[in-house]
Amino acid sequence: MNNIEIEEKIARQREYFSQNRPNVETRIKMLKLLYKNIKLNTDKICNALKLDLNKSNTEAYMSEIGIVLDEITYMIKHIKQFASKQKESTPLSNFPAKSYTMPCAYGVVLIISPWNYPFMLAIEPLVDAISAGNTAIIKPSEYSPNTSAVIQELISSTFEKGYVDVVLGGVEECTYLLDQEFDYIFFTGSTRVGKIVMQKAAEHFTPVTLEMGGKSPCIVDESANLKLTAKRIVFGKFLNAGQTCVAPDYLYCDEKIKDKLLYEIEKQIVLQYSVDPIDNDEYPRIINEKQYNRLVKLIDKNFTLFGGKYNDDKLKIEPTIMNADFNSEIMQNEIFGPILPILTFKNIDEAINSINKHNKPLALYIFSNNKTTQEKVINSCDFGGGCINDTIMHIANHSLPFGGIKQSGIGSYHGKHGFDTFTHYKSIVHKANWLDLPLRYQPFNKLKEKLIKLFLK
Ligand code: NAD
Repeated sequence: MNNIEIEEKIARQREYFSQNRPNVETRIKMLKLLYKNIKLNTDKICNALKLDLNKSNTEAYMSEIGIVLDEITYMIKHIKQFASKQKESTPLSNFPAKSYTMPCAYGVVLIISPWNYPFMLAIEPLVDAISAGNTAIIKPSEYSPNTSAVIQELISSTFEKGYVDVVLGGVEECTYLLDQEFDYIFFTGSTRVGKIVMQKAAEHFTPVTLEMGGKSPCIVDESANLKLTAKRIVFGKFLNAGQTCVAPDYLYCDEKIKDKLLYEIEKQIVLQYSVDPIDNDEYPRIINEKQYNRLVKLIDKNFTLFGGKYNDDKLKIEPTIMNADFNSEIMQNEIFGPILPILTFKNIDEAINSINKHNKPLALYIFSNNKTTQEKVINSCDFGGGCINDTIMHIANHSLPFGGIKQSGIGSYHGKHGFDTFTHYKSIVHKANWLDLPLRYQPFNKLKEKLIKLFLK
């Protein structure tokens, strides 16, 4: 798409928003239509996800389509309540008046999404943005072209032009979009690009949400139920072949249980993905050659404890476990693939200290049956969100905000938190005219001073 077309789309959105700010009824109507069209196009979306990432239909529904439908259902149910004015108390100093907050849309929103959950990460923020009354332009990833094409089709068959639009393209188009003025930018992607987005947004003082990644630790202490722990770690790490922002990036376990845990994890990999995951048609592939080559380079046969095979034609890497420490090459950047380094600690304080020396991760998982250890870890480490005795399931709860902290993210969404993200709350004092207390007006005197001190203390 060329720059003139991009400018036209933004201008049309501005015009649309200024002419017809979507009211609650319109938003509900459009959410219902979006829901219906996603349902009608489920097979198409699944096929696109199969082509882009070899996702099975079950995984595509469970981790993308179903999550979006669920968010729409939640918003349709709650939108009236979220969008209504909220009465607030009024201090005596403001008497006689009423006070309230009024949820208002920002206006024209830009949503930039990545390739790993290419449907969900484009459409779920859209659901929150339109629930809050905004119009939106989506820029899906160029690396998941089949899903991006389906998104474009879905959007153009659901929304009128100017309400929601799609801009296809890569860095060039995204850079041009970021040079324009938006009222809100919602970005999901790498920390490197997140920094660019924030810099560009600063030019226009545009508020941003940045949903980024990082190295999320998965701690296992000696009290953990190792069978169940292994099952849940294998699920969270190898879903979408490890290309999940909240996947456990590395395993950090008590040295006393390392061998037992490893044994259980290996058993679980075979149970969940078969003895030959590369031949398993339900096991996703790596998105492209560039990412595949980056991951293959990280596999060092000298440190491989399990797995390690890969297939250039299929772009598949089997679930792989490697010995590592914090200086290993694999520990220098977010892995974002099906390779799980395993590190050990002697005691939990050592683990907490090591984690806190690094960037604040998007997620943290602690497997332990010891309450003191659970509390100590979640209290002493900074991270976006996480689970005690599970992986990644904290994102499947509308009541919990999902987002990172510092390098792993700014802001959050999902459910009410998503509505709030795309909402500016106007504060209104509605003053009555039947009385006008003289206190605040000049000329001041001793009595006024005394009364002011009585009100403001
Ligand atoms: P990316 O940052 O490379 O790309 C994201 C988007 O930014 C794409 O639409 C792309 O076209 C655009 N983009 C890329 N380079 C750009 C540039 N120089 N200028 C302007 N725009 C640019 O990320 P990715 O590789 O698609 O996704 C992987 C990353 O996303 C990982 O770090 C992962 O942790 C993170 N992620 C985070 C979440 C989350 O919810 N927190 C979810 C999924 C992925």
